[in-house]
Amino acid sequence: MSRFFSSKYKNLTPYVPGEQPKDTQFIKLNTNESPYPPSENAVRFASCAAGGLNLYPDPTCSDLNAALAEYLGVSADEILLTNGSDEILNFAFMAFCDENHGAAFPDITYGFYPVFAQLNNVPYTEIPLKEDFSINTDDYKGLNKTIFIANPNAPTGIALSLNEIEKIVKSCPDNIVVIDEAYIDFGGTSAVPLIKKYDNLLVTQTFSKSRSMAGARLGFGVGCKEIIEDLNTVKYSTNPYNINNMTMAAGLGSLRDNKYTEDNCKKIKENREFASKELKALGFELTASSANFIFAKHPEMSGKKIYSSLKEKNILVRHFDNSRISDYNRITIGTRKQMKALISALKSILEEN
Ligand code: PMP
Repeated sequence: MSRFFSSKYKNLTPYVPGEQPKDTQFIKLNTNESPYPPSENAVRFASCAAGGLNLYPDPTCSDLNAALAEYLGVSADEILLTNGSDEILNFAFMAFCDENHGAAFPDITYGFYPVFAQLNNVPYTEIPLKEDFSINTDDYKGLNKTIFIANPNAPTGIALSLNEIEKIVKSCPDNIVVIDEAYIDFGGTSAVPLIKKYDNLLVTQTFSKSRSMAGARLGFGVGCKEIIEDLNTVKYSTNPYNINNMTMAAGLGSLRDNKYTEDNCKKIKENREFASKELKALGFELTASSANFIFAKHPEMSGKKIYSSLKEKNILVRHFDNSRISDYNRITIGTRKQMKALISALKSILEEN
């Protein structure tokens, strides 16, 4: 730390992203990326846009915004596109929380929420998940805080029903409820239609997972016009050109090729069912995942040991140093071939044990 670092950030513990080894020999099941390339349409649109990189991008993202609005069945002024959904989540902390208006989220959830809270000097409450890692919705009802809930949750993959989400939103009319739907295309029901009914709901989604565009950094928030106006005030006060030309074009290309995304989601779900069955046969215990990952533990081997043994066999999964979940590993769903390689590696690891 330099002697110039602002005192307001001195105690900040930054988010630790999953490993991104340059070494391509790894079977990479650690950061919930799609194993499939982006749609050819997205790649073509992006390469056409590369020729226009001398110009600043359209700060309103008007074409992409219109296409996304049509796809989601909302108006263009009910959407804000951002640099990954991480950015809209940070904007939500900036816009709807402060020293006097804290945040609340589960104790086991996306690890960036506490970091955004610390960054923005927001006091936060971590609400324990139940023993089986499900969310007790009663804990959030009428809570006088800005609520952040990932649905499906990460790293458990467990989803709340739309009815349960609505009950939370309805019970907190004077607070914003953010539903982070990064994994919604792999299971669960989106809360987007509820934005027409509730002026305190912000739903966030991403092109990173189901649309195979993690490297492009494209996410968005959907909420009533007034919420989006507030978030735009934050955006135009930090980075008006937050989406670059190539990403904007790739996003449009992807939206014009929805069948490709739907087919990939179907394959991921099938691979999830295949891997779950095989893992259970090896004695693993799994949460009921509606996402593009599995959360698994084995009664005879520690989570850390499984993680490092897999790494020795060139398979990367994600292990979290959090006492409640240290027995577990989060395993991204890859291709059928990758899942078969995972299962056979785990078989020999268990035998060696
Ligand atoms: N929410 C959750 C629950 C996530 O797991 C992630 C990905 N790590 C994000 C949001 C952010 O993803 P992105 O910024 O790539 O859209």
